[in-house]
Amino acid sequence: MICTQLQILRKKIGGDVTLVAVSKTKPNAAILEAYACGQRIFGENKVQEMTEKAEALPKDIEWHMIGHLQTNKVKYIAPYVSVIHGVDSFKLLAEINKEAKKHQRVIPCLLQFHIAQEDSKFGLSLDECCAMLDSDEFLALENVTICGLMGMASFVDDKAQIRMEFRSLFDYFMQIKHTYFRLNDDFRHLSMGMSGDFEIAIDEGSTMVRIGSTIFGER
Ligand SMILES: *Cc1c(COP(=O)(O)O)cnc(C)c1O
Repeated sequence: MICTQLQILRKKIGGDVTLVAVSKTKPNAAILEAYACGQRIFGENKVQEMTEKAEALPKDIEWHMIGHLQTNKVKYIAPYVSVIHGVDSFKLLAEINKEAKKHQRVIPCLLQFHIAQEDSKFGLSLDECCAMLDSDEFLALENVTICGLMGMASFVDDKAQIRMEFRSLFDYFMQIKHTYFRLNDDFRHLSMGMSGDFEIAIDEGSTMVRIGSTIFGER
């Protein structure tokens, strides 16, 4: 069942978009089913759950932290995490840099933008992001790379609104790429799109979708 869902999904999203299989709350057996079907990238939103799964499951899995990350928990995932999607402050980025250095790693990060209408969602504004990227403190960080942006659209049925929010994130992405990362090939990912809205997200320029319930069933 999981494998069938994955195969259908892969056809829909095409070969140029990276699929992060969001396995939060799902058991290791479900992850192994997706693994047997060739999936190697999994997304989790809780530090402890992701760490337990990473210890138990095959070592060639790439673990993406997609949830809100507290600075005091960075140390638990720094040894193995492959991408951190939800970076929304300099303080968090500096902590990731510090912990990455301890493990002689450079951790790929995505900056999370606030694009939804709801105020509950975390994320930077364009001004906050630019202020950070302009700062000397940012330039001094050697153990993180900024690989792109991430965002979540509002949880609404209005497809036009969702499209507009993804489009605004794409505009931020192009603007930041042009201003700060023009000659930097690491900055290339736009993580947007979940089960309910990934088709719109891909239409609007997503390069990475984070999909859970379509693959693993409702949580
Ligand atoms: C849970 C989650 C997803 C996946 O959601 P689905 O609707 O199950 O596809 C994607 N992104 C983030 C940040 C999440 O927390």
